[in-house]
Amino acid sequence: MSSIQIEEKSVFNQLSSFGHQKVVFCSDADTGLRAIIAVHDTTLGPALGGTRMWAYKTEAEALNDVLRLSRGMTYKAAITGLNLGGGKAVIIGDNRKDKSEALMRRYGRFINNLNGSFITAEDVGTTPKDMEYIRMETKYVTGVPESLGGSGDPSPVTAKGVFMGIKACVKELFGTDKLAGKSVAVQGIGNVGESLVHLLREENAKVYISDINEERLSYVSSKYGAEVVLNTDIYDLDVDIYAPCALGATLNSNTIDKLKCSIIAGAANNQLADETIHGRLLLEKGILYAPDYLINAGGLINCYSEIAGFSKKRTMQLAENIYEATRSVLKKSKSENIPTNEAANKIAEKRIEDIRKLKASY
Ligand code: NAD
Repeated sequence: MSSIQIEEKSVFNQLSSFGHQKVVFCSDADTGLRAIIAVHDTTLGPALGGTRMWAYKTEAEALNDVLRLSRGMTYKAAITGLNLGGGKAVIIGDNRKDKSEALMRRYGRFINNLNGSFITAEDVGTTPKDMEYIRMETKYVTGVPESLGGSGDPSPVTAKGVFMGIKACVKELFGTDKLAGKSVAVQGIGNVGESLVHLLREENAKVYISDINEERLSYVSSKYGAEVVLNTDIYDLDVDIYAPCALGATLNSNTIDKLKCSIIAGAANNQLADETIHGRLLLEKGILYAPDYLINAGGLINCYSEIAGFSKKRTMQLAENIYEATRSVLKKSKSENIPTNEAANKIAEKRIEDIRKLKASY
């Protein structure tokens, strides 16, 4: 009895502290579906966010993840200037064992019942094939395969956004955004990392790469003329820019102490181990940090384009807008002497508030 009370209290505490508009618990005995859809804010448009399938140890952990991630999507859409709100969904289960066509389609029916207030896409543990199943039951899904009219791989768009974020930071520090002669350390040369290396090398930047995958290292190194460095050495390099494109939380007290770069701008999600502490630490150390959720918004832009029916050219133009958005964040950070991640949050919150007032006046 007491454990039930604790659980209930913590659920409602969490809901009120995150400020969600709607949280839907989906359960289906026939398929074993257990999912939570969180719609955080729809002021700017329908809540768009991926569906993550993960073997969460507890339901509370799944709920916390979906509430946190959906709120993050609200900020991401707002700062990028998209007419989208923030949402996210989690399916509780092992994505290698518990998936089936029926489960995904049942889940698609739950999405359909939300009448377009939530639109989903691929995320950790789900694939374009899963999106195809969901689409059999609802039109509120993006990231379906290109062969079915979808927008395809978002990585080149994400890389373009990161590249523009890097350029905006370089402009701030050096007065020009030309990258020739600048040195960049790219950590992780997967889908996004490789595209980024390509763009950087096209502008004659000196590029260092690290990865845990030896084969990819030799492939990317010989294809683009990038220098391979040991994974353990990446934080000690004397470079202008560090671009984390592998894992989250690589910016912590230990690594920030080592870094010699003047700019950090990469694709990885949640780069700051602690947003408050490490955002401020970077400001104090004089390192310009391009907020991850702004400059890696290419994936979201790709989904937005798919819904809006935009061409690839238009999608890339939207990714290019990340340059001006980053410039605005850097300007605000400088004028108010606040960390760039805080400046980005403030700009996102202001946009939502302005549009909320505008809509109330209709
Ligand atoms: P990916 O899986 O294709 O590439 C990740 C690369 O990092 C792989 O080559 C992997 O070997 C390497 N890696 C893993 N652990 C490492 C370590 N400890 N040190 C160095 N390298 C390591 O992923 P991706 O699609 O290129 O995405 C990269 C990052 O950007 C991820 O954090 C992802 O969440 C984020 N992101 C991606 C997109 C997108 O459009 N793909 C959008 C937004 C954010």
